[in-house]
Amino acid sequence: MALSQMVGRLLGVREHVVDPGGGGAPRLPHPAPTVVVGGGIAGMSAAVVLAERGVPVTVLEAAPTVGGRLGAWPEASPDGTRINEHGFHAFFRQYYNWRNILRRADPTLGFLRQIPRYPVLSTQWPTEEFGKLPPAAPANLLTLLLRSPSLRLRDLRAMNRDAALPLLSYDPIQTYAEFDDTTADALLTSLQLPDRARAMLFEVFSHSFFNHEAEMSAAEMIAQFHFYLLGNPEGLAFDCPAEDYATSIWQPLTRHIEQHGGRVVTEAAATGLHRDAAGWEVVSTAGAYEARHVVLAVDPPALAALVAASPILAEAAPDLVARMPAFGRPGPPYAVARYWCTGDVDPGRAVFNGVSRQPTLDSVTLYHRLERESHRWAELNGGSVVELHAYACEPDVPAEELAERMWTELTALWPEAGRLRIRELRARVEAQAPAFPPGSHAGRPGVRTDADRLYLAGDGIHADLPSALMERSAVTGILAANHILRDEGGATEPVHSIRPRGLLARGH
Ligand SMILES: Cc1cc2nc3c(=O)[nH]c(=O)nc-3n(C[C@H](O)[C@H](O)[C@H](O)COP(=O)(O)OP(=O)(O)OC[C@H]3O[C@@H](n4cnc5c(N)ncnc54)[C@H](O)[C@@H]3O)c2cc1C
Repeated sequence: MALSQMVGRLLGVREHVVDPGGGGAPRLPHPAPTVVVGGGIAGMSAAVVLAERGVPVTVLEAAPTVGGRLGAWPEASPDGTRINEHGFHAFFRQYYNWRNILRRADPTLGFLRQIPRYPVLSTQWPTEEFGKLPPAAPANLLTLLLRSPSLRLRDLRAMNRDAALPLLSYDPIQTYAEFDDTTADALLTSLQLPDRARAMLFEVFSHSFFNHEAEMSAAEMIAQFHFYLLGNPEGLAFDCPAEDYATSIWQPLTRHIEQHGGRVVTEAAATGLHRDAAGWEVVSTAGAYEARHVVLAVDPPALAALVAASPILAEAAPDLVARMPAFGRPGPPYAVARYWCTGDVDPGRAVFNGVSRQPTLDSVTLYHRLERESHRWAELNGGSVVELHAYACEPDVPAEELAERMWTELTALWPEAGRLRIRELRARVEAQAPAFPPGSHAGRPGVRTDADRLYLAGDGIHADLPSALMERSAVTGILAANHILRDEGGATEPVHSIRPRGLLARGH
């Protein structure tokens, strides 16, 4: 254990047990049929836990493959069939609950590979390095501040330190009460930091949550600062699968669910919910499914559409129905473009790079230095596989146009990229990420709904413990499964968390 982790432990910056699990039957004697709508991380996490307790669970997934925003699917290419993916993902070390689900695919998590560096690039300022920090707070924060080329001692003296205190004082109730109506932009402005420090240390952060600072709640930014940096004992360190997501995650998790008696049905889009005295009926394009419990684990716009298409919910879940118009509006569109190129960038470039203050480009990933299939392709073709992301881009711009803008911006950062020849490009633009606008916290739905035995899961759903993105999806999926298991007398799944509150949070 590193010294910073030992100091952190003394301050409570360590893994916390939210629910030790257990407390009921390891396998239910009279399990009730359950339907999970959506086969992304949230839905598959719920299904893994339920299937293991003997619940006859059916996952209905609209797409031909599971995985949702972490999806991977076979695609024809000039070189034969290959796997394409929804895009690069960083599997952070404090994703305790998502990692526990992934241990069902591989108990040692041997498919994950450490990504040692995390640079943030800019055309205006020196590169910032988020990798190689001491793992735990407060040493990680102090080191970042002391070694950062974006922040000098005199900047720290000039900054508004009172305005920075809320970043260190995250509290799941107080922070939202005080800061949910403010924008992340206003909070950052109040710090009175020089522009370069703001751009290099903070803005990269909010874009990674698929939101613009001007449209994001300051409370959410404080919560994420706590989850990724200040309350996190594992460091801003992350791993990535060395194989595509279909091979390393979705095929083994699907097999796991099926081996425990569950079913995963793809190309089955749920079109509405009905209910009678016997329970729920979920109607889908692949037929109708009866269930005692239902978990809706779809993205926000899909949830709003499904609720609107289920008139029974007006009576059974009026509170859920009332929350949908605001919740169903996603964050800004995001774009993903993967380029198969002749030639390579400089060998010293990092595998994953954040980008600050480019109009479109937010990250660059060198897939041929990350995933096996891309590596093989690059070796055979003397080339490289580069993926570019824009996490919060201008609306109504076609994917190809965004891909072109991102490539031009890349060549401004890495001039040698201008010498690569693009042989093939796959570009997509979508808008399914949850929005976290100011004032949205009170209306955010939680895992329990006001309808009996109807639950929600997903990265836009509220959870009481610090979590975000993939971890929020897994946490809410597990919490939904735990509600069902408690109701049926089954043993719950353990739930873990980083330090639940900030280092300087008042009271308990
Ligand atoms: C480009 C990109 C990069 C990202 N990078 C990271 C990262 O580095 N780290 C991180 O932690 N997170 C990252 N994320 C976020 C992460 O992908 C999401 O938080 C997570 O995958 C969401 O999972 P989910 O199960 O909540 O929702 P989804 O993945 O959206 O799953 C919902 C599923 O429901 C299905 N569905 C929708 N409607 C219906 C219906 N009517 N019937 C049946 N099925 C339906 C959809 O097809 C989908 O499969 C990234 C996301 C993107 C897009």
